[in-house]
Amino acid sequence: MKSNSYYMAVDIGGTKTAAALFTPRGEILDDIVLTVKSRTFSGEETVYQDTKNLLQDLLAGFELRPENLAGIGVGSPGPLDSKKGVIIHAPLMGWRNFPLSDRLRKDFGLPVALDNDGNLGALAEQRRGVAKGFQNVIYMTVSTGCGSGIVLNGEIYHGRNDGAGEIGHTVLFPEGLPCPCGSSGCFEQYASGTALNRTARRDLSAGTESLVLSLTGGDLERIDGKILLEAAEKGDPYARSLYEKEGFYLGISAANWFNLLDPDVLVLGGGVTKAKAFFYESMMRTFRERCIQPVNDDQIRFSEMNDRIVLYGAFYLISTRI
Ligand SMILES: [Zn+2]
Repeated sequence: MKSNSYYMAVDIGGTKTAAALFTPRGEILDDIVLTVKSRTFSGEETVYQDTKNLLQDLLAGFELRPENLAGIGVGSPGPLDSKKGVIIHAPLMGWRNFPLSDRLRKDFGLPVALDNDGNLGALAEQRRGVAKGFQNVIYMTVSTGCGSGIVLNGEIYHGRNDGAGEIGHTVLFPEGLPCPCGSSGCFEQYASGTALNRTARRDLSAGTESLVLSLTGGDLERIDGKILLEAAEKGDPYARSLYEKEGFYLGISAANWFNLLDPDVLVLGGGVTKAKAFFYESMMRTFRERCIQPVNDDQIRFSEMNDRIVLYGAFYLISTRI
């Protein structure tokens, strides 16, 4: 194998940062992914040094040097400037207008490409995931928050200011719940995992009966996705109705995507999709009701890449750029 043929992929996140080396064929070298817990709120230099150390540890573990790599691909939450490689604002990291690509380029002497995690999710699904072989692919992640990425004609669609794909802030209810973005009734305020937990807390503290209450030991603050899913699996009518509503919101969003862009495939990922058995039916029913064109059920698929998806996307980003 050529000496400079490996690629480094990095997934920067609010709870942890992960990194892996990739072979030119897109396989994770020895299936090893190193992670470091994100020391958020400890200053921009601390977080950068942690990231740099992680990458150096990864190389050292394989007895490799930067000269053995062809480049580094990085995924990060937005907002960011993908062309300049600058993180515009990452409050958890303390990064504001942080020139991440330049810093890595200087420290490792390698080409660096940066993009946001939603876009890289879409790229990963289109290049090797459940949407492989299709040109127009949407990836939507429903987790703590809601994000998405758009691949059109085989390439990431960024929009003018890297602002494309902000699905979490499309509006479901114009006079709905306030959102930190300044708008109200945003999709994220209803369909995210955070929203599900909040709705359950509100309903149960208002007296709704549910198995969820006993699963939390009476402490509503302990409600999370795991507990809600467990309750649904045990047949709890309230938890099931919560997911039925989730399916309704997801179905509306899916119909919006298809009515707007007519993609080949929409891929759903993120923690909330673990409960797909309980929202799939209502999602598809709503989707069919509100989509104005003929669509096949298999145009909506579920991601199978789990928490490695951004790493794969970062590999495709850098390996196709150089
Ligand atoms: Zn919003």
